[in-house]
Amino acid sequence: MKIIVQKFGGTSIASRDLRIRVGEIIRSTRDEGYAVVVVVSAMGRKNDAYATDTLINLVTDTNPNPAPRELDLIMACGEQISGVMLSAQLATMDIESQFLTGPQAGIVTDGNFGNAHIRYINPKKIMECLAQGIVPIVAGFQGMSEEGELNTLGRGGSDTTASALGVALNAEFIDIFTDVEGVMTADPRIVQNARLLDEVTYNEICQLARDGAKVVHPRAIEIAMQKGIPLRVRSTFTESVGTLVTNRIAGFDEPVKIVSDRLITGITYTSNIAQFKIITSQIENPRGLELKIFKSLALADISVDFINVQPEIIMFTVPVEQAGKGVEVLKNLDIMPAVEHDCAKVAIVGAAMTGIPGIMARVVEALTESDIQILQSGDSYTNIWCLVKKQNMQRAVQALHDKFELGKK
Ligand code: ASP
Ligand code: MG
Repeated sequence: MKIIVQKFGGTSIASRDLRIRVGEIIRSTRDEGYAVVVVVSAMGRKNDAYATDTLINLVTDTNPNPAPRELDLIMACGEQISGVMLSAQLATMDIESQFLTGPQAGIVTDGNFGNAHIRYINPKKIMECLAQGIVPIVAGFQGMSEEGELNTLGRGGSDTTASALGVALNAEFIDIFTDVEGVMTADPRIVQNARLLDEVTYNEICQLARDGAKVVHPRAIEIAMQKGIPLRVRSTFTESVGTLVTNRIAGFDEPVKIVSDRLITGITYTSNIAQFKIITSQIENPRGLELKIFKSLALADISVDFINVQPEIIMFTVPVEQAGKGVEVLKNLDIMPAVEHDCAKVAIVGAAMTGIPGIMARVVEALTESDIQILQSGDSYTNIWCLVKKQNMQRAVQALHDKFELGKK
């Protein structure tokens, strides 16, 4: 049996017309000879009636700090509603289906409320459905711990469900249907000539996703990669083939083609970042300063990023909503940081950039030509990050996209 896992995101199943469209996609995939396993996420987006955020607000309006266990129970409802609705729609289209919750689908999690990992899957019920020609529709984003508690998988976790099922069922493909064409060289809302990438490696898409491209959850990629199951990112709304994520493309008659990482794959960004700067010469007793600072921030549960410790200066960033708390923590240590509230991190992602001279020179050239100041920079073997003022973010992304000619094939 050739199996495909097809995951439909919230915006793909938000209305009856869309659910009919999804039914047609499922039908045509079956007509191609595949057994289809469907994964759904909650319908719609923020402010829609059954979206995950709406369900969270429902309970936090009554109690801002609900027990994690109860929060998971309400968060998991969204996928159940959309799964039942899709199943009802398919029935009207003469496609027999059965909705399964995460636990019914045999998804066993590690017990970590709100951010569980999948331990293993026992796909007995799914296989029973498939053997009878029934389309199993699995609720994404949820599973059950061995103690019998319902867990959610972290925001965006239905991609992870799809990927884990693809691996467990040894699927031919994992299809992630969403509201964008596929993986692009930059956010098309910001960059006019952003281009669809037909093929990317697992590594490339992972780096893009980690640095802010919101196409597929990075954990889902990591899981698919473990067994080399090809993943396709596709739009529910168009016929476009989307982006194929794989390391190897082998046709039946063709020799195996190895796809390699590109020098530069794309430009991504994350905003709502605050930069903290502490000049050590202004501190009366700077002994053990670094330790005090980072320990206190950790105790206050503040996550730091873009960390740069030098004898004269200590710099780091925090999510902007934690900036106030961060200042408080430092004040208690008699430290007055300089805080730049409206920052954004722009990333140049290229898994093959390591050891290639001149990339940073082009980054600086692009930003200088556009009069954009780099507040801080950092790099890894696959990325260069620049911190810029948020007001410059869009221009920075466009300038870098142009400089590396990513709009050209
Ligand atoms: N509905 C969940 C969320 O909003 C899971 C998902 O959409 O992937 O995070
Ligand atoms: Mg999602």
